[in-house]
Amino acid sequence: MIVLVINCGSSSIKYQLYDMPDKKVLAKGLAEKVGGDGSFLTHRRGGEKFGISKPIPNHKVGIGLILSCLTDLNMGVIENVKEIGAVGHRVVHGGERYSGAMRIDQDVLTCIEECCDLAPLHNPPNLIGIHECRNALPGVPMVAVFDTAFHQTLPKQAFLYALPYEIYERYRIRKYGFHGTSHAYITRRAAEILGKPVDSVNLVTCHLGNGCSMAAVRNGKSVDTSMGFTPLAGLVMGTRSGDIDPAIIPFLMSKPEYAKISEVDKMLNKKSGLLGISGISNDMRNLDEAAAKDGDDSRAQLAIDMFCRRVKSYIGQYLAVLGKADAIVFTGGIGENSPVVREKTAGGLELFGVMFDRVKNSDPAGAFDLSMPGSRIKVLVVPTDEEGWIAEETFNHVK
Ligand code: ADP
Repeated sequence: MIVLVINCGSSSIKYQLYDMPDKKVLAKGLAEKVGGDGSFLTHRRGGEKFGISKPIPNHKVGIGLILSCLTDLNMGVIENVKEIGAVGHRVVHGGERYSGAMRIDQDVLTCIEECCDLAPLHNPPNLIGIHECRNALPGVPMVAVFDTAFHQTLPKQAFLYALPYEIYERYRIRKYGFHGTSHAYITRRAAEILGKPVDSVNLVTCHLGNGCSMAAVRNGKSVDTSMGFTPLAGLVMGTRSGDIDPAIIPFLMSKPEYAKISEVDKMLNKKSGLLGISGISNDMRNLDEAAAKDGDDSRAQLAIDMFCRRVKSYIGQYLAVLGKADAIVFTGGIGENSPVVREKTAGGLELFGVMFDRVKNSDPAGAFDLSMPGSRIKVLVVPTDEEGWIAEETFNHVK
């Protein structure tokens, strides 16, 4: 079965076409600046890359362009869109309703709509993507795969904030957690690597990319996670602050520069994190370069150190929550590629029974396990595959 995976953002549409159940990627691509000037589509087939510079005034045109690329005589991989057997949609927020992927029907659409309030930047474009695909591919089954679903197993004591209980009841304010597809995928892969059934692994999973989150996984299920009501909570990220004292917000709002809540919101989401501390970049590679050039006292180094310290504190917290763990698992652009970050976060944890292997860490080609043979808790690097997970979930729902 041919499965199309769609990840629709407010101004972008990411797609991948899979041949299932082999999970073979036939083609993939990204439409950027949808609804703006200079819109562009990059389409890839195997090692070939095609660039299409064309106005994409809205998502409807974007989806149409993607389908025409997939069926194009020159760059396509299928003859007719009728060959597409199912579409899997990444949906950010499923609220408290969904703890797994759902075949899309009116009920599911209504729930996604109801969750727009909780994810105003993400759920509306996700919905547009679903509507446009339904229009372009009538009768083709569609599945929603939620970022929040994997964390619906959090116990109440972990997902509630210590606010008046009515705040939760009235406004649904609680920890939801995000990056669920990534945490779910690396949990399953880690179980395979460890040779254990997924429902018996205990893990601390670290998704470190532009957005960063961690999860405590007991018996294959998420029991705590660092992102919260929104993806702003928890770790230091590229441009997001992660955890701060909430009293900073009303204090700042008493100052003229931050009197508007929109300014505070922008500062916390777009000007903080690695970028805010370093003053240089939100990109770990640039900070590595700057720190190497400017030395240990530089703000680039400070940003890296703060990032790592926060990850390490969460590792400690989650090991304590779990009581026993099989592995600490790294993924995401930073987790998969930065030996420095892995060493600063998973090194020096002998107290917990983590025997980190610095040699394997600095040359991880092909190596998944970065711990010494006797390590009670292993350290694994597992490249994430969120689109592949969505394709699998979709296939499993419609086959
Ligand atoms: P997103 O969350 O947007 O999917 P990614 O998972 O691609 O982001 O992660 C992006 C981050 O990964 C950036 O900070 C980037 O600098 C970092 N990164 C990628 N490659 C390396 C590398 N070789 N060393 C250090 N950091 C890296």
